[in-house]
Amino acid sequence: MKLNRQWQLARTPTQGYPVEEDFGFQEIAAPSPGDGQLLAKTLYLSLDPYQWGRRRNGTEKPGDVCHGRTVSQVIESRHEGYREGDILFNTNGWQEYGLTGRNISSFDYMTPRKLDRDLAPVSTALGVLGMLGLTAYAGSYLQCKPQAGETFVVSAASGGVGQIAGQIAKIVGCRVVGIAGKQEKCQFLVNTLGFDAAVSHLSDSFEEDLKMACPDGVDIYFENVGGKTFQSLLSIFNKNARISLCGLVSQYGNMDGKNPHDVWREMGQSTFDKKKMHVYSLFVGNYVADYQQRFLSEMGQWVSAGLVKYKEDLWPGLENAPTAFAAMLEGKNFGKTLVSVHDDPTLTDNIRNQRANVNVLA
Ligand code: NDP
Repeated sequence: MKLNRQWQLARTPTQGYPVEEDFGFQEIAAPSPGDGQLLAKTLYLSLDPYQWGRRRNGTEKPGDVCHGRTVSQVIESRHEGYREGDILFNTNGWQEYGLTGRNISSFDYMTPRKLDRDLAPVSTALGVLGMLGLTAYAGSYLQCKPQAGETFVVSAASGGVGQIAGQIAKIVGCRVVGIAGKQEKCQFLVNTLGFDAAVSHLSDSFEEDLKMACPDGVDIYFENVGGKTFQSLLSIFNKNARISLCGLVSQYGNMDGKNPHDVWREMGQSTFDKKKMHVYSLFVGNYVADYQQRFLSEMGQWVSAGLVKYKEDLWPGLENAPTAFAAMLEGKNFGKTLVSVHDDPTLTDNIRNQRANVNVLA
């Protein structure tokens, strides 16, 4: 009998950010696939801020296996489309083994798909060539339609979504300014990703630094964090500026019962009106059906050509998932947060070189 280690939600969280007591570790028998199903072992688990929203708002219930998108390898298949050994993008959740296929209820608008191990490192299906990349592409490229010479600002700029959004604007020819926490992250944005400037929101002179970095004002803002960062931008938006409202990660720990999006709009509304600004709410699920293929083709070419680089924050071992999750929400991650659950059999030397920016954590 194969044992399946998994994390379940132990309680509906009441704390601002995740703590150990929110999660329970279980060891149970791995399931067997029924007709039209496959059993896959998790190679990489994606940790994303939206998962905290699901746990706090009761979508995920105590006793549920924690939700999470994964890259997995098929170990047993009764599904006509997959064979043992195939690598796929799926939604195993925070566990070692999971079922995919017919009659499995799983929240996901990105359906399982087989991955081509020769195209790119398979972990990219959870980052630059996955939901995060599509989010960045939809918000920066499709919604805000950046033009050469415009000033494009992105917050949480070294994170999974932010680093890609900024690089897309750079390809188009914008002046790109990234907002991040630690100096190490700011240096990475300028020195490795080629942003024009980076500003730390931890600095006492944050507002002045931001103004200095945007001498011609701000034409486009890709919003990932909200709060103080957003407030500091209000006075430097240009007339007709565009915002893609992607996320408000600085507000996810608030327990005041207010809807962060309502608070954000109240804060900005008079500026939006006065400057005739356009605010686009972003939900990546709305772009999957019409744009996923175009995105994969275009982003695939940018990544292969080295025009878009990416950084992953890789935590070893499923047991570290709650710690890594809290670290990501608190800004201690550096790049797209992933947990390596089982060894990746596709890792050749060539692929290892392509993943030179992986930050492997102890
Ligand atoms: P990240 O990898 O960017 O991790 C979160 C980052 O947020 C941290 O690394 C930290 O960076 C920053 N941060 C945390 N707290 C604060 C704070 N108080 N002030 C400023 N920055 C803070 O996460 P993702 O790339 O996965 O997600 C980015 C955003 O995109 C999130 O808001 C998420 O909800 C959203 N999202 C939205 C989607 C949609 O459909 N609309 C789909 C997917 C993601 P630093 O150390 O630099 O401060």
